[in-house]
Amino acid sequence: MTPMANLWTDSAEERFDAPPLDGQVEADLCVIGGGFTGCSAALHAAAAGAHVVLIEAETVGHGGSGRNVGLVNAGLWTPPETIAKLMPDQATGFSARLAAAPALVFDLIESHQIACEPVRNGTLHLAHSEAGLRDIADRHRQLSAQGAPVRLLNADETAARLGIRAYHGALHDARAGTVQPLAYARGLARAAVAAGAKLHEHTPATGLARDGDSWRVRVAGGEVRAAAVILATNAYHRDLDGPGVPPVTGVNFFQAATAPLGAEAANLLQGGEGCWDTGMVMTSLRRDRAGRVILGAFGSMEMAGRDIHLGWARRKLRALVPDLGEMPFTHAWSGRIAMTGDHLPRILRLGPSGYAAFGYSGRGIAPGTLFGKALAEAVVQDREDGLPVRPVEAHRDRFTALRGAWIETGATLVHAAGARL
Ligand SMILES: Cc1cc2nc3c(=O)[nH]c(=O)nc-3n(C[C@H](O)[C@H](O)[C@H](O)COP(=O)(O)OP(=O)(O)OC[C@H]3O[C@@H](n4cnc5c(N)ncnc54)[C@H](O)[C@@H]3O)c2cc1C
Repeated sequence: MTPMANLWTDSAEERFDAPPLDGQVEADLCVIGGGFTGCSAALHAAAAGAHVVLIEAETVGHGGSGRNVGLVNAGLWTPPETIAKLMPDQATGFSARLAAAPALVFDLIESHQIACEPVRNGTLHLAHSEAGLRDIADRHRQLSAQGAPVRLLNADETAARLGIRAYHGALHDARAGTVQPLAYARGLARAAVAAGAKLHEHTPATGLARDGDSWRVRVAGGEVRAAAVILATNAYHRDLDGPGVPPVTGVNFFQAATAPLGAEAANLLQGGEGCWDTGMVMTSLRRDRAGRVILGAFGSMEMAGRDIHLGWARRKLRALVPDLGEMPFTHAWSGRIAMTGDHLPRILRLGPSGYAAFGYSGRGIAPGTLFGKALAEAVVQDREDGLPVRPVEAHRDRFTALRGAWIETGATLVHAAGARL
């Protein structure tokens, strides 16, 4: 099977290029990593008047930000009552910030005119079984208690919205939506530059150290000396000499996209909602502006199970929409999700005015944008009370490599076994 490309790279309307860093520079803030977190931090700090330098090892959106499904969710995987148990004294404020985070994303898209195919018709969490139906009903109860605009759809309503009769029901969240994720990341980078930030691609940080009152960030062609540093490298963290992102479980998730479909698929997701299901080896489903159908699931396109995952995706799509017959994929790609043990993101304190944000556990578009903004405000204002979660001094997850390998193997076995709903 010939390798296929990442759709988002081919279809992104936003373009972005920045030169590598060469020489010694000084800044108020050095941001390491050009995804949602880093670009949002750079944008908001520069807009507040700080002198910002952002360095990205590859190109903006190279990590999870340019590979994901594009669901702009209003919360985490973890439902509110579990969040409340895990962080009793922070949960109320944290959940409120997460609930408002899609509005932050869509407002940024609007105010910076980011060409990233925004659709704000909500998301559908699809019940794949009776047990799945109980799960979404319980989430509906928890979210409704917080005043969230969520609605439980029965099987007929779900089928009407989806154009697919396969699910027992769905949870619609009106706060959420979808974007072309790489275009959104590039748009944030463009806005950061317009606000005065200096961005440098193809510039991996090779060292990070505190030196007197400032941070020194070493790169191949020079150095950034900055009063504050934000490490926004998350699941794509490249080792550097100095403090880094602690090991978390890396979970692979792939997507495969058809060619643009026209009248023959007019009923399929006509509202443009982004969807995922309650299956243990979860499936995602959405369309893009050109009308492609994009199906996703756990698994890597860069490992031995690639053809098994792709074969499963073909069978799954045929099972979901039999009327369309065989629909070949034109694109297939995957990315790595940084999953913490409790599925909650962390802000790690690296030292004075130094932070790392990581572990959004598959929910990083809105939370990453929020964390980047909040970290920018924390370093510019030199106060931490506006951070969505309190910084931790250390983070330790156990057996991370083993867990990641186990999830990839499990997904491969399930996908080899067939296209079960
Ligand atoms: C396949 C997939 C599907 C997902 N689906 C969704 C979804 O639908 N909705 C959602 O909300 N979230 C989703 N996520 C999660 C979301 O994409 C991530 O949480 C988010 O992109 C993280 O953004 P980030 O800026 O923190 O990190 P990243 O986007 O990973 O950026 C980190 C950057 O740091 C750079 N870097 C690393 N090391 C160095 C170094 N030493 N020096 C300089 N630069 C460095 C990397 O090259 C990379 O560009 C998904 C993730 C994946 C992988």
